[in-house]
Amino acid sequence: MLNRREFLGLVGAVTATGPALLRGAQSSEWGSPVFDLHCHLRAQPGANVAHLDGAGITKANLLTRAAASDQVAALQAAAPDRFTWFCSADPSRPEGIEALTQSVKSGARGFGEMKYHLATDAPEFQRAYALAAELRVPILIHFQEVDHFPNEGTWSTGFATNFERILKAHPNTTFIGHADAFWANVSADYRNEAAYPSGPIVRGGITDKLLGDYPNLYGDLSANSGNNMLSRDPDFTAAFLSRHANKLLFGSDCGCADGRGSGVSQGNNPAATRLAGKCVARETLTVLKRSASPEIFRKIVWGNASALLKFPA
Ligand SMILES: [Zn+2]
Ligand SMILES: [Zn+2]
Repeated sequence: MLNRREFLGLVGAVTATGPALLRGAQSSEWGSPVFDLHCHLRAQPGANVAHLDGAGITKANLLTRAAASDQVAALQAAAPDRFTWFCSADPSRPEGIEALTQSVKSGARGFGEMKYHLATDAPEFQRAYALAAELRVPILIHFQEVDHFPNEGTWSTGFATNFERILKAHPNTTFIGHADAFWANVSADYRNEAAYPSGPIVRGGITDKLLGDYPNLYGDLSANSGNNMLSRDPDFTAAFLSRHANKLLFGSDCGCADGRGSGVSQGNNPAATRLAGKCVARETLTVLKRSASPEIFRKIVWGNASALLKFPA
């Protein structure tokens, strides 16, 4: 639970935002309500609300470990209707599967983000996929094969080569793909050369194909990975957003302090300097806004998440 200082900090921040709490599904400065699928819980409770308000975000999905469930509940109570919750736990540990199950009973609407040093087709990971289907919640996965710093290690390896088999083997599991390997593989020429490849996109990449072929796969556009993909090739981006208008979800994964780029937006990632001093949420919303029709923009930043996470549109 919150200590007294944290609680006062939270109340202070909430009070300072005033009418923002009542925004609900009304339009924001973006011309549509905005849902941030990928929001890591900040230690200071009020800082979570401050980022939403600063970036013009209506509502956000907190991604936490199971141990943070009390903090999530306190924040949800203090800022009603502004936060949903996904929980993650290591499926290779015996207590991990139990924690995931319990989290859904306690209100989690999905698993995530799942970021572990496991192959995408590891039996331990497949237990979590099966559990997500059983509990009817989506599972959000971080795919990364190139280190951001020496010896970081890889996460959910084998996306390009093995993930299609997983989509086939778990047709009742709703997957949400995220991070470097997921978005770099939108281009057909990608071979794990760089975390964030640049330049025009070669059509026919595996991620584009999988989003088109599998109804159980969605894409989370958060972080430098999503923003970089959207920024490489404007002609491609417009067509891609239109092609997968019902499968893409806005997210920020932004760590900045105020929703305007102060502090550090992509912490712990020296490979993402292109977003230094910027709010990832604002940058990605700006690309989406100029690349999509108002109708498609609204789906990607609000409607698709509302349907998937079952909150009122
Ligand atoms: Zn991630
Ligand atoms: Zn930000």
